[in-house]
Amino acid sequence: MLKPAKASGQGNRRVALVTGGARGIGLEIVRRFLNDGYQVAFVATRTEHVERAVALLSCAEDRLYAERIDVTRHKEVEEFVDSIRARWDDIAVLVNNAGISPKRVEPDAPWLSQTSLDEWARVIDVNLNGPFMLMRLLAPAMIAKGSGRIINIGSLAGRAVPMIAGPHYAASKAGLVGLTRAAARDLAPHGITVNCIAPGRVLSDLTGPAEALVNRSALSRIPVGRFGTAEEVAHVAAFLASPMAGFITGATIDITGGEFAA
Ligand code: NDP
Repeated sequence: MLKPAKASGQGNRRVALVTGGARGIGLEIVRRFLNDGYQVAFVATRTEHVERAVALLSCAEDRLYAERIDVTRHKEVEEFVDSIRARWDDIAVLVNNAGISPKRVEPDAPWLSQTSLDEWARVIDVNLNGPFMLMRLLAPAMIAKGSGRIINIGSLAGRAVPMIAGPHYAASKAGLVGLTRAAARDLAPHGITVNCIAPGRVLSDLTGPAEALVNRSALSRIPVGRFGTAEEVAHVAAFLASPMAGFITGATIDITGGEFAA
């Protein structure tokens, strides 16, 4: 656990919780929310990644709070949420960003037969059960306040025929779209919006370097002719968290450079 900070007169700041905030898209969302004036808490699975991100962000302790927590470990997540509340306030914005996408063992073998039940369960657990658990955990306080923003990071793989991702990844991300709609309907009367962002190919540790064969072939399918950036995803998350997006709920916003299949 990184050093706890005392609450220190930051009472007017909104509190955001970002899962998987140590790298890639999550890290840029954390950075963007910090720039927008939030107090930001994030979790990730590896201590060295959490510490590196905290050092990179180089932010005052009363603005940033991070711990190494796996989103599938419900008790630890609950304790972390309690400690955010004790230190700052209730969470106003939840960004369910943490996600995993296993690689094929043998590139030419069919995905379905390559996916073990354990691997299926793990991907669903991180990518879908984690967001559900956190939404369920945070919704009561948001309802009590009459406001809140929930943003789920889905994927093009859950919207179109997945060209690269496996069945577990595609199913988890398609599930997030349905979960987003169901939760949006539930929570709308309480002033809470729930939306999903579905990025196409964004270069990160998850997707690997631009020159990897899988990325070169992905690039050929993107009409704008380039990969997306984590910052571009973070801009949309910031917009959805803002008062300007108050009438948007249950939506899935595609950020794909024009890549899509109905
Ligand atoms: P990265 O692999 O670069 O980063 C993922 C982050 O999530 C890491 O900080 C990782 O922690 C954290 N994480 C993974 N599993 C858990 C877990 N069980 N509990 C807590 N934290 C966890 O991924 P991206 O930034 O590329 O992807 C972020 C999200 O965007 C994912 O949901 C992904 O599916 C989605 N997405 C990404 C696309 C892309 O092209 N990059 C396209 C479409 C969707 P640690 O650093 O400790 O390992």
